Amino acid sequence: MRFIITLLTLFFTTSPAFAEEITVYSARMEQLIKPVFDAYTKASGVKIRFITDKEGPLLQRLIAEGKDSPADIFMAVDAGMLWKAAEEKLLKPVASPVLKANIPAHLRDPKDQWFGLSVRARTIVYNTKNVKPEVLSTYEALGDAKFQKRLCMRTSKKVYNMSMVAMMIADLGMEQTEKVVVSWVKNLAVPVFSDDTQVMKAISDGICDVGIVNTYYYGRLMEKHPDYPLALFWPNQKDRGVHINISGAGLTRHTKNEKAAIAFLEWLSSKEAQNLFADVNLEYPANPNVKPDAMVAKWGSFKQDMINMENAGKLQIDAVKLMDRALYK
Ligand code: FE
Repeated sequence: MRFIITLLTLFFTTSPAFAEEITVYSARMEQLIKPVFDAYTKASGVKIRFITDKEGPLLQRLIAEGKDSPADIFMAVDAGMLWKAAEEKLLKPVASPVLKANIPAHLRDPKDQWFGLSVRARTIVYNTKNVKPEVLSTYEALGDAKFQKRLCMRTSKKVYNMSMVAMMIADLGMEQTEKVVVSWVKNLAVPVFSDDTQVMKAISDGICDVGIVNTYYYGRLMEKHPDYPLALFWPNQKDRGVHINISGAGLTRHTKNEKAAIAFLEWLSSKEAQNLFADVNLEYPANPNVKPDAMVAKWGSFKQDMINMENAGKLQIDAVKLMDRALYK
């Protein structure tokens, strides 16, 4: 570590072109990014100013500020949102061999406008008293008759579910995906919940037996309540793999500190920063050469969906319309 810090210090002190300060607009929560920013400042001397908000308001702000925006980097917690920022021409392509080497192709924009920095797995959670893992197999099978009135879901209004269904359309096609979503709705035990934690509490209480959640919510809940009869299951291991999403970032179109901002993005993708970035929220490092946190590693390894994450954005409107037709609230 000391060697790396020395190298970084040397690098930055000998590069007068680097700005002393960069600005990040982040939809990733302050408590998750502050430690990472502090570590970078300590290692590089570059100060990081930031604001945090929901993705929508941040995008609106970038649009309104235009050329005058102080932002150098836009950070989001959903691939669809990163895609949207690129669609709105708010991002600038980064031709970085470092980012290309550190981040797998399906986790970054084919046009290099955004890069995944951590992976979020959205998988099946089940009640260990009422469900044997052998009866579980795929997301699609949660619509089978055996799960009638046993499924709990979070609202379709949450972007995580929009992205999940969009990626499913990319994999299975529109018709097949619609059949699946209709079968889920038919199997709901109770109306949809507003967040993943409520879904898991309902499963733990036996109101339903299975559901779909982001694993870091499972990690947070089980840290507080290790006695809850809940376990994760990795579906679709014989075909497309587990649905994943990313938390990631891109360079803003009107950055005035391009070099410094790119250096920061590259650092975020590196071995020393990846655990800092992912572990604080029990996510998976995007860089495949970095191991996840010990608790996360205990949930086991899994095959992930390798289709490019840009589909989460490209097919999002189709996904929303499909969920409407399926009466998934
Ligand atoms: Fe979340």
